[in-house]
Amino acid sequence: MIIKNGLVLQPDGTARRQDIRIEDGRIADLGTIEGDETLDATDRLVAPGLINTHCHSNENYFKGLFDNLPLELWLLFSYPILAAPQQTPREIYVRTMLGCIEMLKTGCTAVVDFLYEMPDTTPDSVAAALQAYQDCGMRVLLTIGYADKVYYETTPLSMDLLTPQLKRRIDDTPLNSPDENIALVDEVRRRWHGVGERIAIGLGPSGPQRCSDRQLELSADYAAEHDLQIHIHTLETKMQAYTGHLYYGKTIIEHLHDLDFLSPRVSLNHAVWLTERDIDLLAQSGAGTTHNLLSNFKLGSGISPVPEMLARGIPVSLGTDGKSSNDSQDMYEVLKAVALLHKTQQPEFERWLGAPDAWRMATEFGARSLGMSENLGHIAVGERADLVLFDLNSVPFTPLNNPLHQLVYCLPSHVVHTVLVEGEVVVRGGKLTRVNEDALLAEGRELGRAYVDGSEPAFSAARDLFPSVAAGYRHAVAQQVGVHRYSGRET
Ligand SMILES: [Zn+2]
Repeated sequence: MIIKNGLVLQPDGTARRQDIRIEDGRIADLGTIEGDETLDATDRLVAPGLINTHCHSNENYFKGLFDNLPLELWLLFSYPILAAPQQTPREIYVRTMLGCIEMLKTGCTAVVDFLYEMPDTTPDSVAAALQAYQDCGMRVLLTIGYADKVYYETTPLSMDLLTPQLKRRIDDTPLNSPDENIALVDEVRRRWHGVGERIAIGLGPSGPQRCSDRQLELSADYAAEHDLQIHIHTLETKMQAYTGHLYYGKTIIEHLHDLDFLSPRVSLNHAVWLTERDIDLLAQSGAGTTHNLLSNFKLGSGISPVPEMLARGIPVSLGTDGKSSNDSQDMYEVLKAVALLHKTQQPEFERWLGAPDAWRMATEFGARSLGMSENLGHIAVGERADLVLFDLNSVPFTPLNNPLHQLVYCLPSHVVHTVLVEGEVVVRGGKLTRVNEDALLAEGRELGRAYVDGSEPAFSAARDLFPSVAAGYRHAVAQQVGVHRYSGRET
């Protein structure tokens, strides 16, 4: 296929009129190209698809449900440890599609889905989610979420406020062993990794403080053996920073370093509460981070020191995070916010993060976090043809002064016309081509409503746990942990 005469965004951020020839899912040629099967792009700006490197499709039925809860209290409801109803494969499939529809229509072509099924992730639940990605044509790195520690040993809650009856319920909830978790990853990897070029499987140890050292070591070894990516929530909140000192007598990054866990295949989700030494250790290790600022805003987590990390060569990609904590999955919203936010953190404007930096985070560094830095994230010969065609005859691009700035600042996600993944058109005229979007949304409304209603026993257990976690939270946020990240400035 040849995309004819589009205004094509170049890797250097400029744009020029070009034809793009696509062969076997890749960009085969750029320039003036003759041929039969063409897609006229005269009125289109052609850009690489954005890459969302952190979300949780398992939260998709919880959109718009919560507000004004810090992470640890929000988790009680979004990831209920007691009485969560297990979803059927159809519920999981439709739920996953709700995210795919939103992301594809807003110009995001690839996603890291950190799947954490409550109460239990199984090969069948993962298969239902992956079937959705396969059917709509979106590219996905699906990381299997797991943990092996009992809840009250992962978060320093106030045990005095945990009733014996609640503690018994938690103790009676079965936990997977480290080997069982890796066995699950292994089963899913064998079945799905590399299927159809667009699906990859990765490891998702939930967070260092939620995993035993043995679980972390097994994860790093397994990922190295099979060349897989690892995503792990790290230092998202002040409570977690405090947890590191309490559990390990050092920062959580120092703990990961001492376990030899950090490597270029690791992406640390959030990475808000880092010390200077943590940033040194990350820079040495080659690990990257994912910046989920809108979720960090909503949960009051703080501001990740992104300019400092980028200046040290640490690749920082972008994510929406899940629908329970953002609650939209529009990567262009994230892109604009990241290009603006960090300007407020220091007066030295020469060091501000700008539109080209934000763009690089959403594309090139996103590809790296997916494990595809060689062939994704730019429009260049040899790269995968994951492309978004925007309507140039629209408000965001009128008048057209600077295509890159207007992509970043003018919120063009509502004028996405055509989307290609692996060279295949998956959105045309703003509608998904491979699935019936309206029917899926109708089913999603029904299943989502029923699932939220059915979660009431889980929410009730969350309310019972609330006082003990709230007390632990208040204690933790009052502690000195060596870094102050609500303002973004160290003290
Ligand atoms: Zn997350």
